[in-house]
Amino acid sequence: MRQSQLFTKTRREAPKDEVSKNAQLLIRGGFIHKEMAGAYNYLPLGLRVLQKIIGVIREEMNRIGGQEILMTTLQEPRAWEATGRWGDEAVDVWFKTELKNGGELGLAPTHEEPLTNIMREHVSSYRDLPRYVYQFQNKFRNELRAKSGIMRSREFIMKDLYSFSRTEEEFRQFYEACAAAYLAIFARVGLGDVTYRTFASGGSFSKFSDEFQTISDAGEDTIYIHEGKNIAVNKEVYNDEVLKDLGLDRGELKEAKSIEVGNIFPLGTRFSDALGLTYKDEGGSEKPVIMGSYGIGPGRLMGTIVETLSDEKGIVWPTAVAPFRVHLVELSNGNADVTSEAAELYRELTSAGVEVLWDDRDARAGEKFADSDLLGLPLRVVVSEKTLAAGSFECVERAGGKTEHLSTSALIDRLKSHVS
Ligand code: ATP
Ligand code: MG
Repeated sequence: MRQSQLFTKTRREAPKDEVSKNAQLLIRGGFIHKEMAGAYNYLPLGLRVLQKIIGVIREEMNRIGGQEILMTTLQEPRAWEATGRWGDEAVDVWFKTELKNGGELGLAPTHEEPLTNIMREHVSSYRDLPRYVYQFQNKFRNELRAKSGIMRSREFIMKDLYSFSRTEEEFRQFYEACAAAYLAIFARVGLGDVTYRTFASGGSFSKFSDEFQTISDAGEDTIYIHEGKNIAVNKEVYNDEVLKDLGLDRGELKEAKSIEVGNIFPLGTRFSDALGLTYKDEGGSEKPVIMGSYGIGPGRLMGTIVETLSDEKGIVWPTAVAPFRVHLVELSNGNADVTSEAAELYRELTSAGVEVLWDDRDARAGEKFADSDLLGLPLRVVVSEKTLAAGSFECVERAGGKTEHLSTSALIDRLKSHVS
């Protein structure tokens, strides 16, 4: 894409009321626009990142047998009354509204109830199970604090998967497969080294759950990490009994602030009992379906990537989620040969399947480089009178700053063989 055509502009300053680093950098780069506290719009560059993150999650969910659907946000009270979750005392983040022709609706903060109802129409026998159903869908939560940018917004996309199993054992098997898929997702988006499967409280559903926590000072959680075992314990459940169960020793754990990027929960039969989701087993007796829920917030993940991987100059996108792979920076200074060289390289790279943002704007080199650092694409390729004379392009990695001088074909080879 030609940067001169991009409707968004970069800006030097973030809005004064924006306190989080992720939103400051994303707003300055033109990735997002702040509508109000806790509500953000994704602009072309930001949407590309969000869609890449969603793509990674989708691949991993499909790999473990997930079937994708899309549910409505609008919720009637009935199912939620049956599980005791319609009341504001039970769920304190509801957005609710009156219907014009009477009655009340809520905007879904999560989707256990309506999906359990759907499954009731499709599951009746042991042959119909297990099933794994997921979606990427907007959730609405009237969050009290919305100061963490896109990491905690009042409307956000969640990947929520729900598992429906016959036995505790069958449920556990999937639960572990999903935990492994989550670790694969966080590794693919560049957070593998700083994200830990974390033992946590199960809230009102079960005794325990597993969170996936990424180390960051911007986090709202505190965890205790065991480096050797690659696991952690949330402060909420950090006590002698839990440590003993997990075979962990206080002395070996390191405290850190962290961001919850994902959460998986055993739900047991809490929803299937309340809403009547049962199946007939081989012997013909009626059994409740055993459920689990598995959430990841792609927006929170995007914010976490910005929080953890950016530097003083701007964002540093990992290749897997970068809006474009290459930032082609043309420094033509009015020289038509430079422009046509840049145009030719743009054509060759795009036809080789490389996503390129071509900075063809009429702007000073300093401004272009500062913008390029802020936008954080993995590889900057400079075309100028100097590179033209040298017969190669200057290629600079955003992460680490490694510089190489490459011909077009060497550049294409490099892009094909490198992950970054
Ligand atoms: P938190 O403890 O941070 O409030 P939660 O435990 O309520 O989150 P879940 O209901 O388990 O979160 O949601 C699953 C995932 O959705 C979370 O792990 C997180 O990645 C994401 N998420 C939750 N709330 C928000 C939000 N307000 N904005 C963006 N993403 C969110
Ligand atoms: Mg949580």
